[in-house]
Amino acid sequence: MKYPRIIIDLKKIENNIEQIVRITKRESGCTTLALVTKGHCADPEIVKLLAKNPEVDFLADSRIENIKKYYDILGTDENGNLAGGKKSMMLRIPMQSELAEIVKYVDVCQVSEIETIKLLDKEAAAAGKIQDILLMIDMGDLREGLFFRDKEKIYEVAAEILTLNNIKLRGISVNMNCYGAIIPKEDNLSEFVGIAKEIEKRNGVVLDIVSGGNSGTMYLSDSGRLPEGITNVRIGESHLLGTESSYLGQVSGTELGTFILEAEIVEIQVKPSLPIGESGHDAFGHIPYYEDKGEMKRAIIAVGKQDVELDSMIPLDEKIEIMGGSSDHIILDITHCEREYKLGDIVGFRISYTGMLRTTTSEYVERIYK
Ligand SMILES: *Cc1c(COP(=O)(O)O)cnc(C)c1O
Repeated sequence: MKYPRIIIDLKKIENNIEQIVRITKRESGCTTLALVTKGHCADPEIVKLLAKNPEVDFLADSRIENIKKYYDILGTDENGNLAGGKKSMMLRIPMQSELAEIVKYVDVCQVSEIETIKLLDKEAAAAGKIQDILLMIDMGDLREGLFFRDKEKIYEVAAEILTLNNIKLRGISVNMNCYGAIIPKEDNLSEFVGIAKEIEKRNGVVLDIVSGGNSGTMYLSDSGRLPEGITNVRIGESHLLGTESSYLGQVSGTELGTFILEAEIVEIQVKPSLPIGESGHDAFGHIPYYEDKGEMKRAIIAVGKQDVELDSMIPLDEKIEIMGGSSDHIILDITHCEREYKLGDIVGFRISYTGMLRTTTSEYVERIYK
């Protein structure tokens, strides 16, 4: 057995996928669903699970490298499309330097700049293809997208896109809960749906994808409040971890503990809680603060910030407190634990989004499936 390792519970994730399908498609009226793989760099076993569910329409990622992996994992049909009928969706607005690969591997691409869309049109023409896109609208979170208050500009850009021969405007999309941490609500999402309706009316077209956001929308869908007219959502966190990102609740029917990090204890010593000597900067250049809690029983586990994020670890033994860490060590307060820990023992943690991202990108963390 090699540690640290991450145990990925495929049974639980399979159930979570089914719950997201139920809530978004069967109960909230989405006609398509995109499930997002960037949280685990398109892990092959999870990608296969997504492909198995007939109601998952898109596999989505923000990195072209991960989207390319889908083709290796699932194989292709005679036309070079993903085998099994799944479509790929690119989440990050594209770099000019990756447009040829986008045309080759991405079925639907999110874009915000008309200049990029025109280059994409040229690239698609050269490849003899039609590239489907979603025009991104910024509803106030202030990351990517055309700004919602400048509606005439949005309508002009949409009209211009519709004149391009090798681009198909499938719809619009919005992302929240990111830079500005703005929560998707009935009002901002309804205004977003209104923009889609106006583009349809002015141009006599149908936009079949009105993509309302990420796991931050799950609290709305889960309580039957996703505004009418939102026909698609792009969900990562909620099917992977069972949580939603607006109010940090658990999505109904999902299971937690899908990703468990296990690490081995390499030292147990009783020491004071306050470091001794003149205090400077820690291993990451910060000036730390310590509380005097007297002597404590401290365990060091052989895993660090290079493999996981401390704030994202929830000890399975609730009596453990995470004291801090550096690149390769994490220090735990085990003073109040009922279990008598000894050297070589394994400690487990539930991890949240950033932890999942780090553990699945660290080459030092072994992956185990169950
Ligand atoms: C990452 C991402 C998502 C999925 O986010 P989750 O919070 O994991 O559901 C959806 N859309 C865009 C544009 C993203 O970058």
